[in-house]
Amino acid sequence: MKLQGRTALVTGASRGIGRAIALALAAEGADVAVNYVSSEPGARDVVENITKMGRRGILARADVSDYPDTFRMAQDVLAAFGHLDILVNNAGVNSDKTFVKMDHASWRKVVAVNLDGVFNCTKVFVDQMLKQNWGRVVNITSVIGQIGNFGQANYAASKAGVAAFTKSLAKELAGKGITVNAVAPGFVETEMVSGIPEKVRNRLLEQIPLRRFGTPEEVARAVAYLVSSDGDYITGAEVSINGGLLM
Ligand code: NAP
Repeated sequence: MKLQGRTALVTGASRGIGRAIALALAAEGADVAVNYVSSEPGARDVVENITKMGRRGILARADVSDYPDTFRMAQDVLAAFGHLDILVNNAGVNSDKTFVKMDHASWRKVVAVNLDGVFNCTKVFVDQMLKQNWGRVVNITSVIGQIGNFGQANYAASKAGVAAFTKSLAKELAGKGITVNAVAPGFVETEMVSGIPEKVRNRLLEQIPLRRFGTPEEVARAVAYLVSSDGDYITGAEVSINGGLLM
């Protein structure tokens, strides 16, 4: 096991990609704090699965777009674990509309969770990582941040912002034992894409050389690689997992 003795927090881990990441890190030996905002039953189920693996799992409820709430969550997690080694900023939302129909609230909501949320969670743990001179931060971006998409100006902008944040922080923290990377999934089978109409899905599949959407586990394995010693020489990278959609 490659993460024995490590502690991690995964945001948005009550379902989808975050759930798979939390379980993958626990399978490699890490104790994991499971963040969520409203899906408590889902988060509890992830914690139970982590516990069954013989690792410590704890609930860490907070709205990542709310700085005071995130700060309070970090204090609780640090009190429970004593320290935090690995932060995975995965929580994300979309609110798709063409720009002409997009109102300010929809813009703010997506940027607040996807971009401010990454700032908030990283800010509340970075001092502690600096003190221990070791840390691993992985931010979940998206192929949409790399290529843009019709109806997703808010989402694309938030993810491109996270990608740029990742590179800046990687440069600032490289000398302090902390690596900062991003993983950019393409289309992955989760609740987030479950509403895509069949016609649109088929058009998307035609553009994906591997002719399928990815699984949450395929994204989770890349995160586990980056935060284990296998990824020690990788920082400032944005690892694409998209079936060849962007090359
Ligand atoms: P999902 O199934 O909709 O899950 C989203 C997760 O984020 C849930 O655990 C949710 O918690 C949490 N969350 C939402 N708002 C939050 C907030 N304010 N504070 C804390 N947690 C919050 O989404 P997913 O598909 O797994 O996506 C995970 C990440 O991958 C996102 O950043 C997404 O943008 C990115 N991504 C997804 C795809 C894809 O095709 N699925 C592709 C590229 C990138 P609750 O359940 O408590 O609401």
